Amino acid sequence: MPQIHPHSYAKTLYLEPVDGIALPPFKPGQFLTFQLAIENQGQARTIVRCYSLSDRPAPEGYRVTIKRVPAPADQPHLPPGASSTHFHDRLHEGDILRIKAPSGHFHIDDDAKVAVVLIAGGIGITPMMSMLRWCLDEQPERTVHLYYGLRHSGEVAFKSSLEAMSLRHPQFHLNVVYSRPDANDVKGRDYQHAGHISVDLLRQSLPHGRHLFYVCGPAVMMESLVPGIAAWGVPEHDIHYEAFGPATVRLAPDAPTKPVDAGLNPLEVRFQRSGRTVMWDGQDANLLEFAERQGISVESGCRSGSCGSCETRLISGTVRYLQSVDHDIRPGHCLLCVGQPASFITLGA
Ligand SMILES: Cc1cc2nc3c(=O)[nH]c(=O)nc-3n(C[C@H](O)[C@H](O)[C@H](O)COP(=O)(O)OP(=O)(O)OC[C@H]3O[C@@H](n4cnc5c(N)ncnc54)[C@H](O)[C@@H]3O)c2cc1C
Repeated sequence: MPQIHPHSYAKTLYLEPVDGIALPPFKPGQFLTFQLAIENQGQARTIVRCYSLSDRPAPEGYRVTIKRVPAPADQPHLPPGASSTHFHDRLHEGDILRIKAPSGHFHIDDDAKVAVVLIAGGIGITPMMSMLRWCLDEQPERTVHLYYGLRHSGEVAFKSSLEAMSLRHPQFHLNVVYSRPDANDVKGRDYQHAGHISVDLLRQSLPHGRHLFYVCGPAVMMESLVPGIAAWGVPEHDIHYEAFGPATVRLAPDAPTKPVDAGLNPLEVRFQRSGRTVMWDGQDANLLEFAERQGISVESGCRSGSCGSCETRLISGTVRYLQSVDHDIRPGHCLLCVGQPASFITLGA
């Protein structure tokens, strides 16, 4: 049952079990998958979205922090984000939510000897808050550097907690980075660096030695920063990242860089359970959108290859992926949300 703490930019929800039974534990950095019954243009609809746990694990409950997602600036006629609008405008304290147990590979390593660098862009701060709070409580000797990139103070979440933690814990180094500070934002007081989080900034401000990097932020930040950290010489196994939506962080060498132009070369997609065969005509970004447009019922979640909700049996044919997949796909299955047919295919759906 949520208690809701409003903020103009993001809303924080405290969740507790309705039946009083202990909630499944989680690793700092993991996310919850919500199944929401919403109303869209007068029609009831169920949607699935993932939200990172934004506090350290605690037996009393879960915390998530949800940013309001408006219509894109260049398409103001579109409806705003369905789930975030539901959380911001329609959900009330005491409402009951359907939530899948915590999951995800993006979680902090527990080797207290290795310093941690948490890099967050915008609402990508949520998994970092969980990791940070856990580290400061459970591994008080561990050095933690947080780089938190935003445009200005109007977008900061957890400002007072972060400042209080940096005063209380000398081994926690807070670096707030504003790309477009407001007239009232004061460098040294409200933020430490101007510009964007970059490898140059990391090189200049981090001490020498091994660090584990955790990165979460918008696609544009991830797509430049993650390969940049690797190019700086950080071994791949010390770099961990999660995108909250579609992001081509690192393409496999043989992955295509452009969507399949199936409009010129239509491919047959057979949905075995639904008994439908439809031509992939290239209108959809991926097989999930394609199935949904045909009215074929498929599970879905993060839509970015992380949660595995849309894993579906691939009975025949080949599926290719346009972005890295952060989920161990079972043999004989495929992920619809980031997949496109590379041949005629038959799916279990
Ligand atoms: C692992 C993971 C963890 C996450 N953690 C967090 C978190 O901690 N906090 C958080 O805030 N978010 C988090 N997210 C993102 C979150 O899951 C949602 O993606 C986000 O809230 C947007 O969902 P929505 O339903 O509000 O927007 P959607 O309804 O999915 O809409 C997204 C955008 O598309 C626009 N749109 C609407 N209709 C159309 C159309 N016809 N054509 C084109 N565009 C359209 C909307 O206006 C909006 O701008 C996480 C995602 C993942 C994968």
